[in-house]
Amino acid sequence: MVFSSNIQTLRPSATIAVSTLAKKLKAEGRDIIDLSAGEPDFPTPDWISQGAIDGIRGGRTGYTPAPGLPDLREAVARDMERRSGAGWSVSSESVIVTSGAKQALFNACFALFGPGDEVVVATPYWTSYPEIVGLTGAKPVFAAGPREEGFKLGSEALDAVSGPSTKGLILCSPSNPTGAVYTRDELEAVARWARDRDVWLVSDEIYRRIVFEEDQAAGLMDLDPDAVGPYVVVDGASKCFAMTGWRIGYAVSQPEVIRKLSALQSHTTSNAATPSQIAALTALSEPERADESIREMVMAFRRRRDLVVRRFGEALPHMELVEPQGAFYLFIRVDSEYGGEVTDSQAWCSRELERTGVALVPGVAFGDDRYVRLSYATSDELLDDAVDRLARVRKGGE
Ligand code: PMP
Ligand code: GLU
Repeated sequence: MVFSSNIQTLRPSATIAVSTLAKKLKAEGRDIIDLSAGEPDFPTPDWISQGAIDGIRGGRTGYTPAPGLPDLREAVARDMERRSGAGWSVSSESVIVTSGAKQALFNACFALFGPGDEVVVATPYWTSYPEIVGLTGAKPVFAAGPREEGFKLGSEALDAVSGPSTKGLILCSPSNPTGAVYTRDELEAVARWARDRDVWLVSDEIYRRIVFEEDQAAGLMDLDPDAVGPYVVVDGASKCFAMTGWRIGYAVSQPEVIRKLSALQSHTTSNAATPSQIAALTALSEPERADESIREMVMAFRRRRDLVVRRFGEALPHMELVEPQGAFYLFIRVDSEYGGEVTDSQAWCSRELERTGVALVPGVAFGDDRYVRLSYATSDELLDDAVDRLARVRKGGE
């Protein structure tokens, strides 16, 4: 079969592929510990789900405007302002509601980049960024900062890969897959770099509220507006409200940009699912209650971060880790074990899945084949068991 040039180089999402395989093996009766899926293991808080149920019962089941329910756009704008550390004012026209943060990223990239453009992707990257950039016809180029600094970018690393065709930069802090978090100053340096070159800064802040040393990670709206050039902030309900299946994301930018993203969306998905929008509106309408739900979840993630970092240090000390400050991933260096048939992260993950039942995602999917990614968004018991299994086979116990 011949497919169009649009998707010639497209590869399916590795994160989704591994978690689908893990689910299949589990359904076949295999004893699998799935540490691949990047989603909170908590259910959506009941009061948020109830908002959607009430909406459905009340007949709110039709289309909404393409950029989202006016009340929800307003609520997102107020939430962005509330969490801005630099007094940004955000209007509802600056907000589009999308089917997950993924669609916000897709809409933004598709509207801003195209053939002939280059887009810098901070590496290690979330697996979908280069694919989304590729779908627009633009070329992803990769930049990584020093490993000791969690690969965070500074202007030196950015200068090394940029040039006249550089149109955009995609940054993710807290990072999926490393858990590294940019300080306000580090973020400001990157923002100024982009502003000075008139480069679009796409700031993926979906994990902004999942951090362990403070209330939230620095975001673009914590910076002096003068430090920020053309920008799109991407956020959403999936992670902080444990709402991955509801598919609600948002993009925030100048109204002129949002109108373009909305025109694009009006020809693709029309609008994010209406009951899901009502659930997100419920969450954002009660900020104190929402903050409390997030605090409880973050406490559990912090405890699990401490647990996995400690257990890896004790049981598998030859595996180097990027110690995470946010999100819920551990990026583990495993290339010291490559040899024989196991020559890359894909083969390493397949072998471990086969012999220990622990499902991890190969680092190659995030642009670094020396590593694998573990999601610790699961119970303490399963995390303990997973480290035991990985350690046991290395001691020759199985
Ligand atoms: N950005 C990052 C960094 C992510 O890890 C994810 C994971 N799903 C997304 C965006 C997409 O989020 P959503 O599920 O809301 O589409
Ligand atoms: N973002 C999550 C992950 O990295 C969910 C899967 C996906 O959307 O890629 O695993």
